[in-house]
Amino acid sequence: MWDYLLTKEERAYVEAVREFVKWVPADLLRRMDANEVQYPRKFLVEAGRRGLLGPRFPREYGGSGLSWKAEIAGIEEIGVLGSALSCLFVLPSIVGEALNTFGTEEQKQKYLKPMLKGEKFVAEALTEPRGGSDFFGAQTTAVPQGDTFVLNGQKRFVVGAEGADFFAVYTRTGQGEGKNSISLILVDKDDTVLVRKVYGLMGTRGGGTGRLVFKNTVVPRSNLVGKLNQGAVIFNRMMIPERMTSAAGGVGTGRAALEVAARYAEKRRAFGRPIRKFQAVSFKIADAVTQLDAARSLNIIAGDAVDRGLDARRLVSEAKKFATEAGWLAVNHAMQVMGGIGYTTVYPVEKYFRDLRLTMIWTGTNEIMNLLIQHEYFKELGGRSWVRNIEGDATDPDPEEKVFE
Ligand SMILES: Cc1cc2nc3c(=O)[nH]c(=O)nc-3n(C[C@H](O)[C@H](O)[C@H](O)COP(=O)(O)OP(=O)(O)OC[C@H]3O[C@@H](n4cnc5c(N)ncnc54)[C@H](O)[C@@H]3O)c2cc1C
Repeated sequence: MWDYLLTKEERAYVEAVREFVKWVPADLLRRMDANEVQYPRKFLVEAGRRGLLGPRFPREYGGSGLSWKAEIAGIEEIGVLGSALSCLFVLPSIVGEALNTFGTEEQKQKYLKPMLKGEKFVAEALTEPRGGSDFFGAQTTAVPQGDTFVLNGQKRFVVGAEGADFFAVYTRTGQGEGKNSISLILVDKDDTVLVRKVYGLMGTRGGGTGRLVFKNTVVPRSNLVGKLNQGAVIFNRMMIPERMTSAAGGVGTGRAALEVAARYAEKRRAFGRPIRKFQAVSFKIADAVTQLDAARSLNIIAGDAVDRGLDARRLVSEAKKFATEAGWLAVNHAMQVMGGIGYTTVYPVEKYFRDLRLTMIWTGTNEIMNLLIQHEYFKELGGRSWVRNIEGDATDPDPEEKVFE
């Protein structure tokens, strides 16, 4: 019902995504979940062929020049397919942000354009064995040698480790341990980029999630994105689509689970009536739909702030946290509404449940989102106060102290 917020062009994009979702063979979903498919190349080829990847980017590079609102709406539709396909669908949008904003024209032609056309496949390699939250402690190194860098190190939990053609790798290029000695480098797959493990996962299966090992991998210097040691700035920019897409996907998957449960509740009967007629059931549906609507509203506001070029760090972090938790609540309620059958593979709710759990962990855990939210909030608060207190200064930790001296 929120389609009214979209322009005609944006609505056409969302319709095209819906058509694409219908095209995705159910058998592909089954085989991915059964770990029979490592990386669904065909899915990305088709998405690219239909012009659906990275809709925010300029048309000259294969995007559609649309707003965040349109992308949020599109990803919600993709969320119906679960988080592995959603993640693969949005990776061009995430890595594309870095290329579109900081990349050279040569990089845009060589990587951004074919990526959006579904002709080249990307993965992002941020997390290391020593930790994902403490990202700026990365230990993978890229040592300059003439016109090249030589990379050594490991990354883990990389979706598309198995299957991607190139990797967006954050690596240490300078002295010291802080965030000022990290760079983003594009690394083409070759036989020095080793996939050492493909993980057994609770959900989000079939995306080729694995551990990457770089062993003296030689990369041309022209593959450096932005300036040397500018990685932290690029990372912060890339985290906008990283988190916005998690937020929109969380709502989409939660919405899909809720739809299955709501239809079930209309037909399933107990004690002589459809279970929907029991408040214990229908109020769960009401709670879930309210949370999802609230999450979507926050997603749209955060996306709009980004489109307007505002500093949206707090809103984007809030959207990621709130939407993934709203999605989780919806999936959990959906499973409860369906009783025992919800826990079986007869319906996709158990898959959504397994998939959605991850969204509160990846792209920055929800604890890290809280860290960012409170940090930005205190910064915004500054020294100002417009609160009027009846008994004195509301910014004083103990306004009564002076009264009783
Ligand atoms: C299936 C899957 C796919 C993934 N895909 C990718 C990918 O494609 N590319 C990629 O680079 N990474 C990927 N990740 C990695 C993911 O982003 C990280 O797992 C995540 O950022 C958390 O890092 P960690 O696992 O090292 O946990 P840790 O950083 O070790 O955190 C462990 C716990 O400590 C908490 N914690 C840590 N520091 C703080 C703090 N300062 N304040 C409060 N709490 C804190 C965390 O919230 C968490 O609860 C993926 C992970 C999974 C499981």
